[in-house]
Amino acid sequence: MEITAGSHVWVEDQELAWVDGVVTSVNGNEAEVETINGNQVTTKLSKLYPKDMEAPDTGVDDMTKLSYLHEPAVLHNLAIRYGIKEIYTYCGNILIAINPFQAISHLYDTKLMDSYKGAQLGDRSPHVFAITDVAYRAMNNEGKSNSILVSGESGAGKTETTKMIMRYLAYLGGHAAAEARTVERKVLESNPVLEAFGNAKTVRNNNSSRFGKFVEIQFDARGQISGAAIRTYLLEKSRVCQISEPERNYHCFYLLCAAPPKEIEKYKLGDPKSFHYLNQSSCYELVGVDDSHDYLATKKAMDIVGISVEEQDAIFRIVAAILHLGNIAFALEGEDSSVLEDDKAKFHLQVAAELLMCDLEALETALCKRNMVTPEEVIKRSLDPLGAAISRDGLAKTIYARLFDWLVKKINVSIGQDPDSKCLIGVLDIYGFESFKTSSFEQFCINFTNEKLQQHFNQHVFKMEQSVYQEEEIDWSYIDFVDNQDVLDLIEKKPGGIISLLDETCMFPKSTHETFAQKLYQTFKDHKRFVKPKLARTEFTIVHYAGEVQYQCDQFLDKNKDYIVPEHQELLSTSKCSFIASLFPSLNAETPKSGKFSSIGSRFKLQLQQLMDILNSTEPHYIRCIKPNSDLRPEIFENGVLEAIRVKCEGYPTNRIFSEFLERFSILAPEVLKENVEENVACKSIMEKVGLSNYQIGKTKIFLRAGQMAELDGRKAKLL
Ligand code: ADP
Ligand code: MG
Repeated sequence: MEITAGSHVWVEDQELAWVDGVVTSVNGNEAEVETINGNQVTTKLSKLYPKDMEAPDTGVDDMTKLSYLHEPAVLHNLAIRYGIKEIYTYCGNILIAINPFQAISHLYDTKLMDSYKGAQLGDRSPHVFAITDVAYRAMNNEGKSNSILVSGESGAGKTETTKMIMRYLAYLGGHAAAEARTVERKVLESNPVLEAFGNAKTVRNNNSSRFGKFVEIQFDARGQISGAAIRTYLLEKSRVCQISEPERNYHCFYLLCAAPPKEIEKYKLGDPKSFHYLNQSSCYELVGVDDSHDYLATKKAMDIVGISVEEQDAIFRIVAAILHLGNIAFALEGEDSSVLEDDKAKFHLQVAAELLMCDLEALETALCKRNMVTPEEVIKRSLDPLGAAISRDGLAKTIYARLFDWLVKKINVSIGQDPDSKCLIGVLDIYGFESFKTSSFEQFCINFTNEKLQQHFNQHVFKMEQSVYQEEEIDWSYIDFVDNQDVLDLIEKKPGGIISLLDETCMFPKSTHETFAQKLYQTFKDHKRFVKPKLARTEFTIVHYAGEVQYQCDQFLDKNKDYIVPEHQELLSTSKCSFIASLFPSLNAETPKSGKFSSIGSRFKLQLQQLMDILNSTEPHYIRCIKPNSDLRPEIFENGVLEAIRVKCEGYPTNRIFSEFLERFSILAPEVLKENVEENVACKSIMEKVGLSNYQIGKTKIFLRAGQMAELDGRKAKLL
């Protein structure tokens, strides 16, 4: 659209992201704009977006109703709605949810659930229940599995949204008889249990999930919940031993420190400040959270999901043991050996051994020494204090990770799966795109996940667009959409992708992170999604769909190795506590040999492929969560909402029913109305007169390319 003096436009603003104003003059490719807050701004014409003067003041509940589909229009619409506490907005079939950070009354109560039951999408205001209802009905009517994919950056509200979906599904597919209600109760109560062990306060979210989760809810032929399965992905293990200001470790540690006195005594606990794994950050308490209350609540939830009292005791004994392990400090002895630092370290070693029910000396040896296997004999080699601390942390992380896996397995066994179920609804709550100052292996895996999901999303949105076009019988054959297959190949291709190269490097004993980086630089020097940063020796950059992320190779090798020190395995598999021993089953031919390399990256890739296979066999529904700030600008560069819109814009982002179109634009060619022709012919005449091409005429609607609506409005404004 031609922007001239008098045009209403959006202009970029440092503080507000976008501000609207009126063009006062145009000079070559620059324009002067007077903004509504009274500023004079000079900017390039290409940076201005036309403002739709006919957009309603109260916003629209579906973005596709916006005449101009561009970033400022979209964000402005969301801001208007957010201002009136409408946190949900559609973008076609996609639900956008903005985190309100406060309870909105009645937004999720039973009465509201009633009102969404059986309602068509669009009949009632946008809501997570509406999307869930559509998925549930589609499943019942078509006998096909559905899935709901919730995405967004950390703190955007994914987990809360997921819980609402599960609650609503329990409401729709729940049982009338109390004794039959156990399945749905277990499904719902699995949330607080997993959150206690898998969530923590981070910079971005006080209750941040540190694992990905896919919950598969199974239904019987009558549409009642008959089983469920929970799959989790990649728990952040490092947090157990290492946290930084102002974050916290996993909730369970603080809950246990706030347990009733009897437990505190039994587990020899005390002030969380006295534990190294907790006092690396000065944050111990969360605003609005009562840890002692939550301890009891977690135990109650554990009861419901079928974790016995004995098991609960063993679980919290392990949690306490990990805290005590963390306090075993080492000092240098001789040249390169280590001993326990002081009496305090000795005390904690003793308590840890008691709680883990293993031999005290064996524990000390497992921490401070390593077996060196030579062809002739096995020699015990001492570790220096740093090596011993690494060994200790490795043990703590392994125990915790096995405990978490046990919980997930136990919950699954307890809920039970229905072998006869034909249909399921899958709910995915998985970490969004991440880019930090130092991004490591975890970010690599997380961003890989997001690339996979993005591809799925693109294909789906594209398919949906196509089906609208097909319905209207318009030609869409020449629209091609941007694909991210090249990034996926870079990461996961076998052989030759980054994960493959990483595995090869890990298997070669002499390699270091430097040789790994060199290998990447050589292999991908011409790959357009791979960049070697200037002067970099151990960093590499991937050009993701959402932007560039620079990864630091330092710990890729270590983090990719799923490795348990044989001495640790030996120690815990012989624990007198059968629960603990069962977490470390003795090795047989099936389990990978301890001490031998098994790749986390490759296993993750496989898990992800299995997830995609399930998703591909379902009808997907998307919910995009947004974390707002004062100007509603997403904090990180990734923005799924705009991405959805970008995909849409590749086709015909705007369509209008003929009569609506004529009402708005017949002024551009008043003669057509007099001619008494068919509506579609009249629409065509207007487009021809204005000189626009590339649009399409369907059966009931006209389909416009991005920007054409604005162009038409521009012409109209000149006439008026
Ligand atoms: P994510 O899983 O995307 O990291 P969460 O779902 O944990 O984010 O949400 C972070 C916090 O935001 C929650 O602990 C809660 O306080 C608040 N929140 C999220 N969604 C809602 C909602 N629909 N209503 C009220 N508060 C919410
Ligand atoms: Mg979460």
